[in-house]
Amino acid sequence: MDVDTEIQVHNEQASTSCASGQASASTSSEMKIPQAPVQFEVRQTDTSKGRCLVAVTAIPAKTVIFEEEPFVFSQFAWNKHCGYSACDHCLRPLEIVEANISRLTRNNNFMLPYPESCQTKKNQHEPCPDCLITYCSESCLKTAYQEYHKTLCPGYGDTKHDPMSVLENAWRKIHYPPETTTIFLLVRLLARIIQAPDKQEMVQKILNFSHKSVNEHEKLSHKFLGDQFKDQLIELRSMVSRVIYPDQSPEVHQFLTSEGFQSLIALIGTNAQGVATSAFSAWRRNVETLRLRKKDQEEVDELVEEIYEDMERCTGGEFLDNEGVGLYVKQSSVNHSCDPNAIVKFWNNNFRLSLVSKKNIEPGEEICISYLDECELHRSRHSRQKYLKENYLFTCLCPKCISEGDDPDVTSEEEASEDENDE
Ligand SMILES: [Zn+2]
Ligand SMILES: [Zn+2]
Ligand SMILES: [Zn+2]
Repeated sequence: MDVDTEIQVHNEQASTSCASGQASASTSSEMKIPQAPVQFEVRQTDTSKGRCLVAVTAIPAKTVIFEEEPFVFSQFAWNKHCGYSACDHCLRPLEIVEANISRLTRNNNFMLPYPESCQTKKNQHEPCPDCLITYCSESCLKTAYQEYHKTLCPGYGDTKHDPMSVLENAWRKIHYPPETTTIFLLVRLLARIIQAPDKQEMVQKILNFSHKSVNEHEKLSHKFLGDQFKDQLIELRSMVSRVIYPDQSPEVHQFLTSEGFQSLIALIGTNAQGVATSAFSAWRRNVETLRLRKKDQEEVDELVEEIYEDMERCTGGEFLDNEGVGLYVKQSSVNHSCDPNAIVKFWNNNFRLSLVSKKNIEPGEEICISYLDECELHRSRHSRQKYLKENYLFTCLCPKCISEGDDPDVTSEEEASEDENDE
């Protein structure tokens, strides 16, 4: 690993999530609370990777390395449109667990044992007084309003023709499920600049995320910036301008030129982290903490299995959660490996991220996560690298890819047919 300069040293007592009542039994009991504070640092590399996160102290397996909330976050447009009801700021489920199960199993008379294990607190929900968009708490309402919602609030009444709804409809036609990104992350970034007391400072914070739309060294450009999306990008850019109107500040308008807009799209594409929450999984984790008698626990396990089978039958099993994406400052400096030593978790049933070690990490060792999901991670080197090049603009040179370097460039049949569909 080539290291040029040290940017920052973080020194954090990483035990907060373990103390939280919302952490699951299985996770918190497996979790190690570090004796000494976990130390890591962000370093600048002179390779195309840019930054990387490096352990300063030894980090035992299953340790929380850090926790953080996103710089900006948004639920996916189709997910929201299809009734996956979540806080507009932090994605905490707004449904009680029975309503969640009823919706996904189409069984209206659902009763669950241990209802007190449901985390959804309807009495704490707060709507925006102007547009009635709902938040899980007063604190989410306030933060959203102070950061971006003041600019983006569509107001009350016929909202069909307001610029936000027009943009949402157009976006949904461009990006069908399975969703991987959303234009509303970009819109919220621009609104954050408009509402920032110091606009220049906010722009700097945004540009601290890697935002290359092209990897010049490897001649890779982001898949959303290919010729097939050219007309759609022009259309989206003009719709976003209407949402942002009447702001005229140069700090915002630099991102509404063709080049500026493309760099923001690339920034979001290469840095966004997916988040999923569900009232049912939160209930399940809470029930695990009850330490039930063996027989009662077995009954719960059976019931949970039945519910998942019903959900699978009704939804195809793929769309069970509230889903969205966020930009995370610290997490964005963690590079990819196909054999990662850390993993991202969401134990708080909202957008709060925990970076957790999977293995023992030595001092000086780079901390890596996988940008691929479990399923993609088990594909051939060729398929993994194709996905990473298209979405993250780099050729993976992790130890696993190098050790498989002599494998032929073949994909399995399933992957080959997907590859054709891509083209
Ligand atoms: Zn919230
Ligand atoms: Zn509002
Ligand atoms: Zn790799």
